[in-house]
Amino acid sequence: MFHQRIRGIARDALQFLLEVSKSTHPSEFAGLLRAEGGVITDIIILPGTRSSSASAVMQLHMMPLSRCIGSVHSHPSSDTHPSKEDLIMFGRKGDYHIIVAYPYDENSWTCYDASGHMRNLPVLDV
Ligand SMILES: [Zn+2]
Repeated sequence: MFHQRIRGIARDALQFLLEVSKSTHPSEFAGLLRAEGGVITDIIILPGTRSSSASAVMQLHMMPLSRCIGSVHSHPSSDTHPSKEDLIMFGRKGDYHIIVAYPYDENSWTCYDASGHMRNLPVLDV
């Protein structure tokens, strides 16, 4: 796992993950967050995530994790709180974890740290 201090997420990257969440609804999608220069700029969408969240988590284990600083996944409900399975995955996959919930707009996502505490993630125009 690649550790670096993160200042925020690029507005484009956020827009992208909201779009993907929307188009995957009512299934969940999962991906990895990549950062450059301390800003989250890329989302790596994991293949085969149009299924249950259990298999989405499975896919995460199979990805090469270099330069990934955390994860993102969507919840088809309006609840952005991490599930018990989410928390286990968070602990293994970096220190920045975004959950996007229905209706997938700029106010329906939350970022957590590895132990599941909410963290402030500024949206940056880069
Ligand atoms: Zn979840």
